[in-house]
Amino acid sequence: MLKEKATKTYGKELKELTKEEIYFLLLDVCKEMSDEKLTTCKDGKKKLYYISAEFLIGKLLGNNLINLGIYEDVKKELAEVDVRLAEIEEIENEPSLGNGGLGRLAACFLDSIATLGLHGDGVGLNYHLGLFKQEFVKNLQKEEENPWITEKSWLRKQSDAFTVQFGDFAMKSVLYDMDVIGYNNRVNKLHLFDVEEVDEGIVTDGIEFDKSDVKRNLTLFLYPDDSTEEGRLLRVYQQYFMVSCGAQLILKEAKDRGSNLHDLADYAVVQINDTHPSMVIPELIRLLMAEGIDIKEAISIVEKTCAYTNHTILAEALEKWPMHYLETVAPAIVPIIRVLDAIKKAEYSDPSLAIIDGENRVHMANMDIHYGFSVNGVAYLHTEILKNTELKQFYDIYPDKFNNKTNGITFRRWLLHCNPELTNLLDEQIGEDYKKDAENLKKLLEKKEDAEVLDRLLTIKNQNKKVLADFLKDTQDVTISTEGIFDIQVKRLHEYKRQQLNILYAIHKYLEIKAGKKPSTPIVMIFGAKAAPAYTIAKDIIHLILCMQELIEKDEEVKPYLQIVMIENYNVTKAEVVIPACDISEQISLASKEASGTGNMKFMLNGAVTLGTEDGANVEIHELVGDDNIYIFGEQSETVIARYERGDYRSRDYYEKSPVIKAAVDFIVGDKLLEIGHKESLERLYNELLNKDWFMTFPDMEDYIAAKEKAYADYEDRTAWAKKMLVNIAKAGFFSSDRTIAEYNKDIWNL
Ligand SMILES: *Cc1c(COP(=O)(O)O)cnc(C)c1O
Repeated sequence: MLKEKATKTYGKELKELTKEEIYFLLLDVCKEMSDEKLTTCKDGKKKLYYISAEFLIGKLLGNNLINLGIYEDVKKELAEVDVRLAEIEEIENEPSLGNGGLGRLAACFLDSIATLGLHGDGVGLNYHLGLFKQEFVKNLQKEEENPWITEKSWLRKQSDAFTVQFGDFAMKSVLYDMDVIGYNNRVNKLHLFDVEEVDEGIVTDGIEFDKSDVKRNLTLFLYPDDSTEEGRLLRVYQQYFMVSCGAQLILKEAKDRGSNLHDLADYAVVQINDTHPSMVIPELIRLLMAEGIDIKEAISIVEKTCAYTNHTILAEALEKWPMHYLETVAPAIVPIIRVLDAIKKAEYSDPSLAIIDGENRVHMANMDIHYGFSVNGVAYLHTEILKNTELKQFYDIYPDKFNNKTNGITFRRWLLHCNPELTNLLDEQIGEDYKKDAENLKKLLEKKEDAEVLDRLLTIKNQNKKVLADFLKDTQDVTISTEGIFDIQVKRLHEYKRQQLNILYAIHKYLEIKAGKKPSTPIVMIFGAKAAPAYTIAKDIIHLILCMQELIEKDEEVKPYLQIVMIENYNVTKAEVVIPACDISEQISLASKEASGTGNMKFMLNGAVTLGTEDGANVEIHELVGDDNIYIFGEQSETVIARYERGDYRSRDYYEKSPVIKAAVDFIVGDKLLEIGHKESLERLYNELLNKDWFMTFPDMEDYIAAKEKAYADYEDRTAWAKKMLVNIAKAGFFSSDRTIAEYNKDIWNL
């Protein structure tokens, strides 16, 4: 197939093509096959629009080839001319359109929507420089721009153009689509709106740029720094641009499919992914009114069309925009928001239910909950906390709107693509039907006493560790021992995720080794995390991790027993190498704070055992695998929530009572680290822990150390460990995003 295509496109033999030419050839093959599929897709009356500020899609070539069913054929044909498909996959830049779990979830969902044959598109923005690229310079995070768009790519320019009216100017959109190719099924689209005027040239020094030059900066960066008013305004410009284009597209397509707009809810359903796209509600109302529908009816139409997903209970992450921002950016929807607010104020006097608060700020989530027909949390515990604590006042008035949709991950990327050896073993042992229905992974439980299968699991894990070790050598020039236990925490850096707890453990272990207590198996601690550019303490934690890495790297006494590596610029591509190599998956957020997590699911599926708190989807993992196949530690969410309510947490009390905590914390500002690191940063972190520790690191610390020691000790019996791996893999089927999407469709979308 490729041979003929090579001669047709380049007039050359396949073996004469450069790697880049082969990559372009494969892009064309995928696009052609996807166009062909598109003509055979059967569309129902109703269509889903998944609107999200982020789509952390990862590289697409490998996954598209898998989903088109031609990965193995292409691999073979390339092998005949001595080319490895993996090398071709490396040529692609990873699209920088997302930040963390929320964006990755949107990407997994698009894959599953198409795979289940549902008609649903993504709607977002085409950020040219994406989220920043992280570099480490002198043990500090440095942010650089991350251009990823190349001349030829998956982006396909469309002819649709919409005008978006801001306060004192208007902009015209340019639309780029990417094909979303389902696994042996239909093709959908990811619509990414952009503007012609955007100018990458205005960026100076890292990621600095003129935040007020909206015409030229609108689609440059995802989540521009919001520590200044101009930065926050820019975020609102981006959000309004995204939803206005999205809403115009939705109405146009509904009309094309025969809607008279009065019946819009039969033609479209909009899933609002967190609060960034919340303005789609007033914008749809505005557009319906412009079509001659009165406001009352327009509201009732939109109320039947929009559904909201909540991703967090962190108060600071729930967006509240000052009204004057909206008056500047989107004055046309301000009167509509006032009406929406007035209706609810007339009905309910509780100020916590208001859309516009006493300080004239617009609570985006409140608008979503009042005017969406569905409100969902993303894991069982999270939804319970929303209903009983965080959003209780809303649950009391709208009990029927609330529902849970435990997150999931696409197995095409997080098993088939990233772990082909494990996939082969599964195919051979339990057949291939788990690829269509992930619950069939349970068949693996029958092999729990099969010595050969257990042995193969360990062998595959070791191979994957070697792959990761080689990767780290190539990319960061660090050498890690593949004999060690790989203990991994990779995710965005946030105090609630508690990387600080993990690095305090590292200090504790370092001190133990120095005192002569040496672990029988070397410990390889791997971190990977980006910190938001304006999040100072998060950057201080990165600094501490990097300083510890350097300290141990130079210490011949400790190095054979303990190593620390921080992966630079953690992203989807790196996750695909890191996760299959993991023994212990660190999911140690403060109970009640992690809405779900999806990293935890990826690790489990690849045979890692979780060390975690009873938080987010860890609770469901625990339930599925049982006490013997997970390491749970720390306080329960109720204890934590009650302590916040009392407001009487004093971290210093724990520090003073526990010599172990004290020794580790004091080490942060001890001579050894001050010699390597920056005094200001280390002292700030030390003081933060001692005087605030908002995410309650210390109360869980001793229990964490004990749980970790238990896990390390259990690891010594490899056969017993392999059984734990097997149970985790076998029970991971529940976390397929195909299951999650089937639930969304049954309970919310009804496509
Ligand atoms: C899955 C994933 C995440 C989310 O990880 P959590 O541990 O759930 O926070 C973040 N970043 C990348 C690159 C991912 O693949």
